Amino acid sequence: MNPAQTIRRVVIAGGGTAGWVAAAALSKHLGALLDIILVESDEIGTVGVGEATIPTIRTFHRFLEIDEREFMRATQATFKLGIAFENWARRGDRYVHSFGRVGQSIWMGDFQHMWLRGREAGVADDLGAYCLELAAAEAGKFATSDTAKINYAYHFDASLYAGFLRRFSEAKGVTRIEGRIGGVRQNAETGDIEALDLADGRVIEGDLFVDCTGFRGLLIEQTLKAGYEDWSHWLPTNRALAVQTKAVAPPLPYTRAIAHEAGWQWQIPLQHRVGNGLVYCSDFLSDDAARAKLLAQIDGEPITEPRLIRYVTGRRKRVWDRNCVALGLASGFVEPLESTSIHLIMIGVTRLIQAFPFGGVTPSLVKHYNDLAETELERVRDFIILHYHLTERRDDPFWERCRTMPIPDTLAQRIALFHEAALTPQTADDLFQADSWLQVMLGQRLEPTGYHRMGHMLSVEHLRRAFADVRDGIAGAVARMPTHQAFLEHYCGAGA
Ligand SMILES: Cc1cc2nc3c(=O)[nH]c(=O)nc-3n(C[C@H](O)[C@H](O)[C@H](O)COP(=O)(O)OP(=O)(O)OC[C@H]3O[C@@H](n4cnc5c(N)ncnc54)[C@H](O)[C@@H]3O)c2cc1C
Repeated sequence: MNPAQTIRRVVIAGGGTAGWVAAAALSKHLGALLDIILVESDEIGTVGVGEATIPTIRTFHRFLEIDEREFMRATQATFKLGIAFENWARRGDRYVHSFGRVGQSIWMGDFQHMWLRGREAGVADDLGAYCLELAAAEAGKFATSDTAKINYAYHFDASLYAGFLRRFSEAKGVTRIEGRIGGVRQNAETGDIEALDLADGRVIEGDLFVDCTGFRGLLIEQTLKAGYEDWSHWLPTNRALAVQTKAVAPPLPYTRAIAHEAGWQWQIPLQHRVGNGLVYCSDFLSDDAARAKLLAQIDGEPITEPRLIRYVTGRRKRVWDRNCVALGLASGFVEPLESTSIHLIMIGVTRLIQAFPFGGVTPSLVKHYNDLAETELERVRDFIILHYHLTERRDDPFWERCRTMPIPDTLAQRIALFHEAALTPQTADDLFQADSWLQVMLGQRLEPTGYHRMGHMLSVEHLRRAFADVRDGIAGAVARMPTHQAFLEHYCGAGA
């Protein structure tokens, strides 16, 4: 017999991207069974960054039945086909990690084995010529339709996105309460959270609490002491300075991640402005020097003051603890190099919906949820470390530290497999697919010393024709696409 529903009142603490994503998904899918309340404080505000995404956001939006054009107009969004990495393995280097498939793989092996053979025989071009998304990004082109598929994500204005989801959630019955949470009440016997005490004296009771209070982790850490596993020995950047600028050129259909001597700089082009930031490690660059560097390197006129954000890369040891589930920055943070945090919020709330504890929180539910969250974040962590570790920048102490640091065994194994045999194995719960690992490993100058000999079964002439066919097909498709700017204007131009 199904137990009675004991969890009905869900209180979301925090109204940044995490809070409103959670509110939107819960109200859309379980709204008929739950009372959902969101508490946020204008006085405290949000982290104000987090404007680049990965393609899984489109699945999440479909799941909410969000209209793409409406969303893009409301958030001044642009299309993102990948990330251009500049100066990473060596100063002057540049490669694009696109969201596309590279070439065509067969059951025996992935495309890179053919490509390595083709390159050796002098009949293959750069890898990018065999990937539609990469070629389109480089050409500044974009088009999508039901018949011509391209894999993409978005750049958007974070505050406009929170506002968009707030309207969505309120229309589905979510109650928003403005106020500062001053205290958290726990049951004296069980330790479960019972209510939030607002600074003005109001008390917000609930059965299940979703902690979306950002880095402070007001419920999950300050109250429940779930613990934090620090990963800064692998990912040593700990600060970011963010500034918005006026756009001086049409928006690129990709994010730029430009390495500097103690970290990297992002450029995220939106329709109405550009988001910029400098990510760095304070052991190697002072805040003043970082600020001067950022302001010297931005292209357009600043429209905000540079804002300093401090963080420690790592994961919350238990993202679900008692009757509290943490999402967003409250659940941990792996730095933003591959724009993964918003995805992790979306997958986190999706799993919460799938494992929703209607009849009460049980240890097996909690363990199931925490295990999934842990594995996923570790995979993401390894992928990010890869970018830092595979570097040849020996003249900068920061990069020398990254190059020589011990890395997780899981990552060391992947690097060895690629180096020795050009293999990019993938498991079902890998967020980043084999094509991503391939593009980044080659982009970071990790050259395989061996590869599968399947390409040797074809004549060089056969290979030449096969490579030319794929390359010419992609080049032709890109030539027919409009520019990214033209497509945006026609599809979802937001105006000023
Ligand atoms: C430098 C940087 C760059 C990033 N770039 C990306 C990116 O490109 N892509 C990506 O996917 N992610 C990125 N992220 C992560 C992304 O910004 C976050 O995952 C996302 O914004 C979610 O934040 P949040 O909602 O958890 O926290 P916040 O935005 O900090 O929201 C916290 C909320 O809690 C409320 N709150 C806190 N305390 C109280 C209180 N006492 N009472 C009431 N309310 C309270 C606040 O008012 C706010 O509403 C980046 C993060 C950083 C630091």
